[in-house]
Amino acid sequence: MLLIGCALAMERDDYVPKEKCTTPGRCSESSSSTTGLRVLQLLSGREHSSSGSRLAEVAKSMMNYQYLVGDAASDEVAVIDGCWDPAGIAAFAKSKGLKIVKYIATHYHYDHIGGEMPGSQGRIPGLREFVDDMGLFAHIHKVERDHAIRSTGVVHSNRVVGMKQGSRIELGKVSLRFLHTPGHSPGGMSIVLSHGGVEEAIITGDTLFPGSCGRVDLPGSDKADMFRSIQGVLAKQPDRLVVWPGHGYSTPSSTIGQEKLGGLLKPMSMDQWMAMMG
Ligand SMILES: [Zn+2]
Repeated sequence: MLLIGCALAMERDDYVPKEKCTTPGRCSESSSSTTGLRVLQLLSGREHSSSGSRLAEVAKSMMNYQYLVGDAASDEVAVIDGCWDPAGIAAFAKSKGLKIVKYIATHYHYDHIGGEMPGSQGRIPGLREFVDDMGLFAHIHKVERDHAIRSTGVVHSNRVVGMKQGSRIELGKVSLRFLHTPGHSPGGMSIVLSHGGVEEAIITGDTLFPGSCGRVDLPGSDKADMFRSIQGVLAKQPDRLVVWPGHGYSTPSSTIGQEKLGGLLKPMSMDQWMAMMG
């Protein structure tokens, strides 16, 4: 049965912890530096948010991944979906000799950029701290920019840049190319990572998880958009791309090819999709 991942779920029982990951080079803290592309996968409660505070406990339960991405020949990285513990993420980067120079969000949900948690549970730090305190520019899809500014309370809103389909960011020889993949949220983005012009990986946020996808029953979600993003956009990407998801609900990573064989990139019709989504 296909699991429909829940980006806002508070608990899951199908998470594969780091020590059980059997895919060398694709687990946490992996870095494909032999090819020149650096991708570090961080997990709440593992590389940061380990204080034992209530916020750290919530962070652990949400199993969000954050990523540090850059050219292995440089110490500069972009943080993707930096949230929960900005100081801890910055400290982790520093411990690896890396400097965070940009902030990128795959989408505007509070567990990816920070802001008020539902039910008056408190505020999560994230985008605001990276922009206002660390002076970074932040990048998010243009249809989610204003909401992200409001929900995080960022002061230097001029540093929050709206992105669109085809936008690029260059970090040395590494290029980040933005694909608009709505469905889970209106401005959801997947980010193709290439080095020297060769595409190697894709950060899929809450659009695609190994064996499942993000929720499509939230405000701003759209089942038909999700079908078009998954079958029309992601399934068209090269099989070799490593898939880096937004949550640790199953394996830490996959590939486009694997998801075509056993996940939601398997060919299906819109009718089949809608029936599966209920
Ligand atoms: Zn989400």
